[in-house]
Amino acid sequence: MATYTPMIQQYLTIKAEYEDAFLFFRLGDFYEMFFEDATRASQELEITLTSRDGGGADRIPMCGVPYHSAPTYIERLVEKGYKVAICEQVEDPKQAKGVVKREVVQVISPGTLMDEKGLQEKENNFISSVTQFEDDTYSLAFSDLSTGENSVTMLSSSWEDVVAEIYSREAKEIVVDPDFSPERLQQLKERKAITVSYEKNATLDFEFTHLVEGMQQQKLITAFARLINYLIRTQKRSLEHLQPVQFYQINQYMKIDLFSKRNLELTETIRSKGKKGSLLWLLDKTVTAMGGRLLKTWIDRPLLQQQQIENRLNMVETFMNQFFEREELRELLTEVYDLERLAGRVAFGNVNARDLVQLKKSLQKIPFIQQVVKRLNHSYATELVEGMDPCERLESLLERGLKDHPPLSIKEGDIIKDGYHDQLDQYRDASRNGKSWIAALEQREREKTGIKSLKIGYNRVFGYYIEVTKANLHLLPEGMYERKQTLTNAERYITPELKEKETLILEAEDKIVQLEYELFLQIRDEVKTYIPRLQALAKVVSELDVLQCFAKISEERHYTKPVFSPSGDIRIENGRHPVVEKVMNAQEYVPNDCFMSEDSQVLLITGPNMSGKSTYMRQVALTAILGQVGCFVPADQAVLPIFDQVFTRIGAADDLISGQSTFMVEMLETKNAVVNATQSSLILLDEIGRGTSTYDGMALAQAIIEHIHEHIGCKTLFSTHYHELTVLEQDLSMLKNVHVSAIEKNGKVVFLHKIKDGAADKSYGIHVAELAELPDPLIERARVILQDLEQPKEEITINQVVNKKEEHTVKEDKVEIDSLKADTDSQLSFFEASQKETKKASSLSKYEKAVLEKLKELDVLEMTPLHAMNALYELQKSLKKK
Ligand code: ADP
Repeated sequence: MATYTPMIQQYLTIKAEYEDAFLFFRLGDFYEMFFEDATRASQELEITLTSRDGGGADRIPMCGVPYHSAPTYIERLVEKGYKVAICEQVEDPKQAKGVVKREVVQVISPGTLMDEKGLQEKENNFISSVTQFEDDTYSLAFSDLSTGENSVTMLSSSWEDVVAEIYSREAKEIVVDPDFSPERLQQLKERKAITVSYEKNATLDFEFTHLVEGMQQQKLITAFARLINYLIRTQKRSLEHLQPVQFYQINQYMKIDLFSKRNLELTETIRSKGKKGSLLWLLDKTVTAMGGRLLKTWIDRPLLQQQQIENRLNMVETFMNQFFEREELRELLTEVYDLERLAGRVAFGNVNARDLVQLKKSLQKIPFIQQVVKRLNHSYATELVEGMDPCERLESLLERGLKDHPPLSIKEGDIIKDGYHDQLDQYRDASRNGKSWIAALEQREREKTGIKSLKIGYNRVFGYYIEVTKANLHLLPEGMYERKQTLTNAERYITPELKEKETLILEAEDKIVQLEYELFLQIRDEVKTYIPRLQALAKVVSELDVLQCFAKISEERHYTKPVFSPSGDIRIENGRHPVVEKVMNAQEYVPNDCFMSEDSQVLLITGPNMSGKSTYMRQVALTAILGQVGCFVPADQAVLPIFDQVFTRIGAADDLISGQSTFMVEMLETKNAVVNATQSSLILLDEIGRGTSTYDGMALAQAIIEHIHEHIGCKTLFSTHYHELTVLEQDLSMLKNVHVSAIEKNGKVVFLHKIKDGAADKSYGIHVAELAELPDPLIERARVILQDLEQPKEEITINQVVNKKEEHTVKEDKVEIDSLKADTDSQLSFFEASQKETKKASSLSKYEKAVLEKLKELDVLEMTPLHAMNALYELQKSLKKK
């Protein structure tokens, strides 16, 4: 280091403290990066890599971005999960002795973004801290720096629950102790991109104790302290907008595990991972950003308390019945600005005059919102708006102080209204008088010289000047004015009195700009004192917004108010899948009932592929969730229990990111359900066992159904293409068969999408293959094989094949499963043959032995069907070759 120039030495000293961030090192009008940072940033940002002499033996890699366009580059790096440390010159370079003093003024990371451009309007941007204790409990804190929300929770269970909570709140960054298990962090990062940061200090500074007032558990305070200490260390500015920390417990809300949230596409779709096509997308009729964020939170956390649910539903009903008030409220809300994020930026010192004008306009709407909501005559609604504080004094300050259309910049004046401040008015008068004096001078000089085109202009370099075109110069008496500048077509002059006035005007203008800036800062500081009141206002606005949104969507899509019954029964009449129904033409969607009670806790749904089994199951779950969120539901009538948890295993989306095969994911999701479900839960299992061999799959499916039926007893919808399972209805008293009907018309299958009692009569796989336009000869061949398989050979009961545990006697419902029998036969013969083969093994060629070895090494459970096919093909190919 000794040989480096002092500036590079300074760089290296600062960089050593911010190793995990790109250091944006301010040099004049640029932010420069050096060494490794420069090499990586030039790749990530696609900017030119250069080098400079830094005093060492080699030139130093360097790249840079202009100061004014830095936000865009910072945003790009942060979006990729990196952190950026902004290092500014903190003394005037002209005054500096030696190298200009520089300091990091802020570290911007995915979890601490404040810039509007980098944030999604209707989404929170959480940063989280996790602390693990010796008794294997965890405390978690969440903070959204942009809105100031803080919350904490305790999890005494597994690491999986911690991961689920972090994912579910979509935290972008997690702060942990430097000793935190690297394996666990690795696990977390593998599943979803998340930035990891470290903070050792978990002691809460006195300045912030008021945020955790009344909180007893030290573990919770520790989690929050770690988070806030990280924020203090990296943000280095006021965090006055942080709101009191809310304690919540995950069992306060309906628990929907990660798999199920994804499967049910609550806030994003499985395929595109975007909002479009999700339940959130369908419901989102909110008109404010705050309402949009609250809607997402509500969908993520359906309620468990009947009273709370009904409070929401009653408000929705009121809004539905009073169309005019609702529409008026919507109009008013559209003009309410994002007060929460504004409060955050006020604290950070990032607001401009335009923001504050928006704030004023928002505040002006509050009394009207109060009036219209009171007209609803709904006690809770009235209570809600009576608590709204229109912050009249602030509103009138902003009205008096700020011009209606101020510029973006806060340093160039034109912000403050006339009449707001005496001194400012005086400066403005001076400037205006000076300007009118100049206008009069122009007139006078024209008359004096007879030059009509003579004009007085202004530029930054020469100030005010008199300009005479070359063509008119002959009219100007020699020496009348003092020559200042020669242009191609004109000469520019000055006079002593013009310069005198100029000084007055410019001085006044300088003072105006300076004073306007100071006055603006005063107003901004005044707004700061209103932060908690603005945040409280934001809460009411967002709640009203979500409730009107529920009413609007419920009315548009003809939803009904659900009734919650303690009996635990489900009675949904003409239920629909909210999203599929919307995407399809309304007339095309076939509504379906769902009746489940004591004797039908488990519905076994059979029917052809593509007939609508999983849509039906999803619609039941979405109806339950929507009801508990407090929204009306897509049905003609709905009586529902209150579910404590929803579990799903639907669809065949491979969890490619975590590298698990479809079948493994299927089993993990199922395990989650059978281990955690209670009698009050809802389980949806779609085509369990499809990812493995027929017997395996069917055996597992039956065992799972029996387990749920015997040991959990919760409402379960189980769809299957194993017709053989339908005989279970005989033995399991709470299981009921239903099927999705399909008919064959002219040899082609027509799906009716209608759920009916009883089991499906046959499978329609070949018809579906036909629909998918597989080649005709292939379809024909399949028909022949099917016919062959369906030839009666020998009758066996399902229990002979599947249920080895106990012998059921199913007399009337013997199912012909010749195909299974055929499978058994072939498997047995394969087994016998392989035994014989083993005896002969010594006579195998070395190639054959190699094939057997490879076969043995295959990890079938970890393979996708395609991998398995490929492997088989390779093995066969090597045998054929020899
Ligand atoms: P399965 O689970 O039986 O294979 P899906 O539930 O995936 O079938 O449904 C297949 C398609 O059928 C859906 O994408 C949808 O287009 C259509 N569908 C499902 N249910 C209905 C319904 N009730 N009314 C109209 N179309 C439906």
